[in-house]
Formats: sequence, C-alpha cells, structure tokens
Amino acid sequence: MLDLSIIVPSFNEEESLGELVAWIARVMAKSQWTYEVIIVDDGSRDNSMKVIETLSASNPEVKAISFRRNYGKSAALNVGFAAAQGNVVITMDADLQDSPDEIPALMNMILVEGYDMVSGWKKVRHDPLSKTLPSKIFNGVVRRISGIQLHDFNCGLKAYRRDVVKSVEVYGEMHRYIPLLAKEAGFVKIGEKVVTHYERKFGVSKFGIERTIKGFLDLLSVTFMSKFGKRPMHLFGALGTLMFFIGFVAALWLGAKKLWFVFHSVAAPLVTSSPYFYLALTCMILGTQLFLAGFIAELVTRNAPERNVYKISRKIGIE
Ligand code: UDP
Ligand code: MG
Repeated sequence: MLDLSIIVPSFNEEESLGELVAWIARVMAKSQWTYEVIIVDDGSRDNSMKVIETLSASNPEVKAISFRRNYGKSAALNVGFAAAQGNVVITMDADLQDSPDEIPALMNMILVEGYDMVSGWKKVRHDPLSKTLPSKIFNGVVRRISGIQLHDFNCGLKAYRRDVVKSVEVYGEMHRYIPLLAKEAGFVKIGEKVVTHYERKFGVSKFGIERTIKGFLDLLSVTFMSKFGKRPMHLFGALGTLMFFIGFVAALWLGAKKLWFVFHSVAAPLVTSSPYFYLALTCMILGTQLFLAGFIAELVTRNAPERNVYKISRKIGIE
C-alpha cells in the first residue's frame, strides 16, 4: 500500500497543474513516503488533459481520471476517494492556493497524533471580502449546528485516514461538509491546522456567491439525513402529533364552549365565528399531512438498498 494519495480536483486549471505537480514532487522527495497524485479532471474544456498526459508520462506518480463533462468538485472528490490507494489521503485544490509544503505536517497529525481527519484553516486568506465575509458567517453557523469546532469547513486542503474516505459518500455540493459526514460515520478525532493560503495565480475562481445559498440548503440536507435519514417518521410523526394535538385541543375547547351555552340555554355565537375554529382546522389538516409525509418517507427509506448498512470498524471472530 502507498503511504499517501494526493487528490486534486481540477476544472480548467491547465496553467497551474505543471507547477503543482513539480512542487509536490519537491516536497515528497525530502521524505521517505511513497505516494500518488490523482488528478481528477472535472470535464475541463481547456488543455488540461494534454498537460496531465505529459506530466504523467514523466512522473509515474501522476495518475488521472477525466470526467466527460463537468460534474462539480464533490463528484471529483468522490471518484478520487474511491480510487485512492494510499494509507493517508490528502485533498488539495489545483489552483496553487493550497501549499504542498503542508503535507509533512498533515501526515504527521494523522500518523503520529492519531487524528482521523485534519482540516486546513486559511487563517490569513487571500480572497476578496465578498468571499471571506459570507464564509465567516457560514462557518459560524456550521460550527453551531454540527458541534465540530473547525474554523474553515470549506478549505480544499484536508488530510484523512484511509478508512474515512472509504466510508463517506460525497455528492451534490457536499464537499464542504466532509467533516460532518466523517463525524456521522463515527470518526470523531477531527483536527485543524493553520495553513498558508496563496492568491490565485492563474485562471478564475469556479464558485460564485450562489455557493452560499446552495451551501445552506446542503447543510439542511446533511443534518436531516444524519439525524433522521434512517428514521424519518420520528421527525414527521413528532411534528404531526404536535400539530394535530394543538388543533384537537382548540376544537375541543370550541365544542365544549358551544355545549355549555346550549346546556344553559344561552344564545351562543356560531362556532365558525371564532378564530379558534380556523386554527383547529388548519392544525389538524397540517398534522395529518405531516403524518402522511412521515409514512411515505418511511416507505422510501425501507426500500433503500442501504437501509441496513452500518459503519463497522472491527470484527472479532466473525468473517
Ligand atoms: N473545481 C472542480 N470542479 C468544479 C469547480 C471547481 O474540480 O466544478 C476545482 C477547481 O479546479 C479547484 C478547486 O475545485 O481546484 C477549488 O475551486 P476554486 O479555486 O475555483 O474555489 P475557491 O478557491 O475560489 O473557493
Ligand atoms: Mg481556489
């Protein structure tokens, strides 16, 4: 087994790749570690593939997977993770913003200090304010929700123990949430390392402001899936019961009041003239709907092939 796999998702980064591979080779030459660089070309429309072919012809460590079209960074990381043969896996952006000089320290944190994963922290960042400010807010929210104390969830430079990358499935735009996915898979020793960040030397950023919106929607999905993915009825059923109960109490109150009036022969107002009537109606309908959503979600999860797949770390005496 190789000591290290470096996965580089790359989309239209032809100018940077040569420099990056040379830099990695310089750093790795000072160590004893065996390694591979897996460049995942995410459907680039420039000359990236030509560049990668030339690089791989002269460096046996350089390997590549090329998508026919652009699928996004998460998809690129996912196939990179599946292909990785290293004992430790490090991901790194292709645009020379992440520094290969960090590799030895990251390796050390995984191998010696025993971290399951280590995330880079671009403490001093060379990006415009339009990017750094939303990012600060974003990281604060994710910290609160996930309980994982990282400052920079979206850092492209991260290191993992092999088991971690083989246990998580990164899809959609989930690459920002790999620490959450790792935690959910049972890897709790998650560390952080301040890393040097450089300005983008060539080309342009591939992500705009819309990433913030997608990011928050994905955060909802990740938290929902990790908490209720295998038991949706517990969420919908609880909410449905609560709603129905509120409606039922309101209806009961109205009915009782009406009966009291009738019983005492007092002229009673119409039930429909009370606001509680509408409250009761809406709540009971919403409650029922939530219940139905819960049942349908339960049916869907029961039919999912991975419904009984659990992350097993070790077996003793069992094949
Ligand atoms: N990237 C990719 N597929 C995409 C978008 C980006 O593989 O659809 C790669 C990109 O080539 C780079 C990394 O993801 O290596 C980070 O992208 P970028 O530098 O544009 O993001 P930023 O640094 O601006 O956050
Ligand atoms: Mg970048």
